[in-house]
Amino acid sequence: MLSNLAEIEQEINSFPVTGPDELENFRLKFISRNGLLTKLFEELKNVSREEKPAVGKKLNEVKKLAEGKYNSLKEQFDDTTSAKETIDLTLPAAEFSIGREHLISQTLAEMVKIFREIGFKVTDGPELEEEFYNFDALNTPAHHPARDMQDTFYVQSKVDKDKKYVLRTHTSPVQIRTMLANKPPLRIISPGKVFRNETVTFKNYFMFHQLEGLYVDKNVSMQDLKGVLAYFFKKFYGEKTKTRFIPSFFPFTEPSGQIDISCFICGGKGCKTCKETGWLEVGGCGMVDPNVFKSVNIDPEEFTGYAFGIGMERITMMKYGIKDIRTFYQNDVRFLDQF
Ligand SMILES: [Zn+2]
Repeated sequence: MLSNLAEIEQEINSFPVTGPDELENFRLKFISRNGLLTKLFEELKNVSREEKPAVGKKLNEVKKLAEGKYNSLKEQFDDTTSAKETIDLTLPAAEFSIGREHLISQTLAEMVKIFREIGFKVTDGPELEEEFYNFDALNTPAHHPARDMQDTFYVQSKVDKDKKYVLRTHTSPVQIRTMLANKPPLRIISPGKVFRNETVTFKNYFMFHQLEGLYVDKNVSMQDLKGVLAYFFKKFYGEKTKTRFIPSFFPFTEPSGQIDISCFICGGKGCKTCKETGWLEVGGCGMVDPNVFKSVNIDPEEFTGYAFGIGMERITMMKYGIKDIRTFYQNDVRFLDQF
């Protein structure tokens, strides 16, 4: 039996264990309840009395050897296994994306900030508007082409059949609501969505954003209007920006003007963006028409005022060199992520 134990001892030492599976085989073969060593302990009773002390001693040594090898390898493999299950802090972090402010919202916030700093208050109005506020009160008579079905989304109310509704075609009805609810002096801006029944192209969309401005007080002049817009566009596009006003027509202002700014790409020399004119159109403005004041019970002999509307998509496209208005609303993160 002693020579047998010597062989087993050698076998234990040379048993190849490179992973948990082999270690299990090792355990089953030598130290499990049905293993080789357990059997040898059972056979110990058959060993002669003379041999027993030596054999017993050797058997214990071999058992210790097997258990020692098993325990140290098990510890080693447990460490590796548990390391696999825990987080490897050296790995690069998983990509994590959060939403961001839409470019138009960024423009809106910037515009509001600039106007607030010079005393304008932000007001709001409904997008589903009564025809009265969108047209009639703004001196836009029934036959006016702006009321054409082709330009305006009309909405039929089933509840309120007497009133006619439209998706507002501009932010100007907020002027009317503000003047009906408050007495001058008034100094407001009102940014928001407007809707036009337009064919969608790279430069037209059926929905876009405007920022309306209105200032009503005693002795408000065209000069005040030009001053405030020149100030705004310098803040928005940079100190070198020049502003000019070209005579235009709107039913609700008299006189009316188109607002142009000097092309910030060529600095006014002429380029593709400004169609070689050196100027870019950014909005409309004018002095509030006396008929508008009459419709909101403000005496045009006592008060004067100016109003302006700036297309937010337009000034944003110009600022960032965006060529297609549709990209604002396609929700393509590859576009939106750039801003
Ligand atoms: Zn230019």
